[in-house]
Amino acid sequence: MTAPRRIEGKLVIATHNPGKLAEMRELLAPYGIAAVSAGELGLGEPEETGDSFQANARIKAEAAAKAAQLPAFADDSGLAVDALGGQPGIYSARWAGPAKDFNAAMAQIERLLQERGAREPADRGAHFVSALCVAWPDGHVEEVEARVDGTLVWPPRGTAGFGYDPMFLPDGHARTFGEMTSDEKHGLPPRGMGLSHRARAFVKLAERCLARA
Ligand code: IMP
Repeated sequence: MTAPRRIEGKLVIATHNPGKLAEMRELLAPYGIAAVSAGELGLGEPEETGDSFQANARIKAEAAAKAAQLPAFADDSGLAVDALGGQPGIYSARWAGPAKDFNAAMAQIERLLQERGAREPADRGAHFVSALCVAWPDGHVEEVEARVDGTLVWPPRGTAGFGYDPMFLPDGHARTFGEMTSDEKHGLPPRGMGLSHRARAFVKLAERCLARA
């Protein structure tokens, strides 16, 4: 295994999603990293043809690093439902359709759970996954993955967050991600405990590759 490489200087954030961009900038700011987005650099979006979260994060990071000739940071994430064999998984965004209708995607999951008789919390386990990848123009990559386990509730609760948040009750908590503030959901130390999949993955990446400014 090669030694971890430090992220320094300028980093391309390989996303065209303004929400993710803002969140990643916020995460990187305490480390003195200047982040420029793939959108700002006019880079295209590669097709996500991988068969795992990690593979798709790597496709996005490597494409941006090659095009910009700078280190690039990408993420891929989604919800895996135990009773559905891990679906929607890497297709989490696609289940919401072109209209990005997550109420419909959550209703679809609930329909499938009901069809399988999954009514008790013990049968409604699920986890969010976040895969992060930093790729350098010379081909070096750093990859981390993290998850947060929980239970799916119905009806959905709360209006905060996005995607499947209102259905997801993280283990050991009484409120869904949709009922939590962003600080509670992601809560990086010292302000929080790093609850969400993305926060946990970021903590791992920071330990490996980032030095506090
Ligand atoms: P991608 O990472 O942009 O390919 O899409 C991830 C999809 O997974 C999002 O569109 C959401 O539907 C879902 N997802 C990922 N992270 C979260 C989260 O923290 N809360 C709710 N939904 C999420």
